[in-house]
Amino acid sequence: MPEIKLVNVTKKFGSSVAVDKLNLTINDGEFVTLLGPSGCGKTTTLRMIAGLETPTEGEIYIGGKLVFSSIKGVDVSTDKRGIGFLFQNYALWPHMTVRKNIIFGLENLKWPRDKINDRLEELLQTMEIAEYVDRYPSELSGGQQQRVAIARTLASKPSLLLMDEPLSNLDAKLRLDMRSELKKLHQETGSTFVYVTHDQQEAMSLSTKVCLMKRAILQQFAPPLELYKKPANLFVADFVGSPSINLHDYKVVEAKEKIILESNNLKLSFTPDRVVGLNVGDEVVLGIRPEMIQPSEDGIEFRVISSLPYGMETVLTVNRGNTLFRVVLFEGEDYATGSIITLKIKGNGICLFRKESTNLIAQGSVEPIF
Ligand code: ATP
Repeated sequence: MPEIKLVNVTKKFGSSVAVDKLNLTINDGEFVTLLGPSGCGKTTTLRMIAGLETPTEGEIYIGGKLVFSSIKGVDVSTDKRGIGFLFQNYALWPHMTVRKNIIFGLENLKWPRDKINDRLEELLQTMEIAEYVDRYPSELSGGQQQRVAIARTLASKPSLLLMDEPLSNLDAKLRLDMRSELKKLHQETGSTFVYVTHDQQEAMSLSTKVCLMKRAILQQFAPPLELYKKPANLFVADFVGSPSINLHDYKVVEAKEKIILESNNLKLSFTPDRVVGLNVGDEVVLGIRPEMIQPSEDGIEFRVISSLPYGMETVLTVNRGNTLFRVVLFEGEDYATGSIITLKIKGNGICLFRKESTNLIAQGSVEPIF
């Protein structure tokens, strides 16, 4: 299985930079998602790995082999990179049956007939599409077509599969089903998957690692839970998680072992997990995930602005002065608008960011100061 390595890869379209000095190593058998808002450079990155787009600068290695180098003048063509593709518009051949769609590529590769038949059977079972084998694409639902498209892509056993928003045309329920299928498929095949999406939930639930980009620049490359629990900067903290993290500005009013933070409506003592070089007067942002705020008798009083009970959890919006907090409670209770609730900020995973650089400087616990 190939490892993919991008070294200082840059892509410019005229004067606009689509991908800026990207360094990335995707290990064998990983399921990596390229995530980020529209236009951040995800598709361009995927297309450069595939050889469909020529980088302006940098080097790309697949399985230890140099497939692109701007300096050495190397540019291995797409068909020699050993890659399978699954793109958003996966267009099955309409005049071919499911069977033909799946085996057509293998026939072109001159696989022997018995090997083709064995592979077809295997794929029909894995993708659960055996009953449609003699149908034409127009006789299939969107999800069934998608499964055929995946079978077609997997037919030649590519050890590297590149996918660009392959589920975006499906309705919500099918998308969920297909997510599970893709994850299962990844585990069964052991192939390396690189997957583009702008859906953070999809990225979080599918991948072994997420590459989160913003305006051509890599923000963080880490396992999903690390992005969630230890975001490198404010952008990552805010992009990952739903409901989103509570981010509020504070001023440092005392910087000793404990750091005393003050905003218009709250004064907190923050105990960091490492030595931080903060000074009185520094501006910081505190990041508190909604599930870190929980009811407690010795907490701070907040007013309930809205209460949305979803059954399994309730999402509250509460305020203190003009500062709003999102809170997730898992007891499925409902609260009346305007009622007072006493809440405590729990755990030691609260994030402290420097306001100017937006970078994470420490994590820790907080205590209110009354
Ligand atoms: P989306 O989620 O909307 O598909 P993306 O993150 O995949 O976005 P890219 O398609 O990689 O973004 O585009 C990155 C940037 O490069 C964008 O600003 C886009 O306008 C620009 N771009 C992409 N392809 C071209 C092209 N062929 N010519 C000029 N600019 C391009």
